[in-house]
Amino acid sequence: MLDAICTFDEENPKTYSIFEFKLLPEAEIDKLRYLLLCPVCKQKAYFRRASKDGKQACFGSRYHDLDCEEFNPSARKTEEEKQIAEVEQIVLEAGSLVIDFSKKIPLNKGNQKPVLDAQKTPLEGREYSTKDAVKKDLPVNENEPKVSKQGLAKLLTSLLRGSSLAISDLWIYTSETHKWRAKNLFVNIADAQPTENGAPRMYWGTISHADKTLNWLNPAEDRSVGLPISKYREQLLERFDINTASDVEGAGFILFGKCVLSKDKKRKYIYLWGNDLQYIYLSKAAEA
Ligand SMILES: [Zn+2]
Repeated sequence: MLDAICTFDEENPKTYSIFEFKLLPEAEIDKLRYLLLCPVCKQKAYFRRASKDGKQACFGSRYHDLDCEEFNPSARKTEEEKQIAEVEQIVLEAGSLVIDFSKKIPLNKGNQKPVLDAQKTPLEGREYSTKDAVKKDLPVNENEPKVSKQGLAKLLTSLLRGSSLAISDLWIYTSETHKWRAKNLFVNIADAQPTENGAPRMYWGTISHADKTLNWLNPAEDRSVGLPISKYREQLLERFDINTASDVEGAGFILFGKCVLSKDKKRKYIYLWGNDLQYIYLSKAAEA
């Protein structure tokens, strides 16, 4: 994406080319990068700086409408469409869904191709009958015969593309004993609020940028929200192959965690549940 619309001045949105945007002073970039839109479908966009390993600065969007011409008909798009269709099918047909936190995290390295079928484990996308569920100690409810099992990666793709999962009544199991209606569990980061009893939610969104020391991830959707990652920083950087702050710009994220207000109540922090890496997934932005 070579252009993005900036709505900093709502009356007069300005279209920036990547070439002019990347030359703006850093403070200006940090102010404007929250307010970028795809020039075609007008969905939320991000800016990613040039990286040391040679990737050019770029604009992108994780929220492109599926028919947006800026969303190239790439392997990534095809794979995303397949994942979305699969989740929609579950929403329509399954009684419940078990989140498989142990599912192998597909590595999302710089030049690696998007996650394709070859990396799927045999369990993925498989539907369990009630009988299977008993055998595997999965949650069972006689009125809910179909239990599907999915990892965070696919759920995130589906949420980013506006699937009906976010507003669905589907039962979602986050453990064998905890279930939630999907619409009560999944919260876009723009709507994050501390819950009354401190209960966790599954927060999702995109990363605008990280601080230079990579101790904070700043969601693009709401600049008053921050993800403090210092408690699990090293593991996170290693698992998702993050070397510099620019590696996370434009990344999609989903995490099971708790929303807490800062002391002055001006900021909200999302703490990862138990600082346990299985509860977070990052999907780095595709190459420009
Ligand atoms: Zn678009």
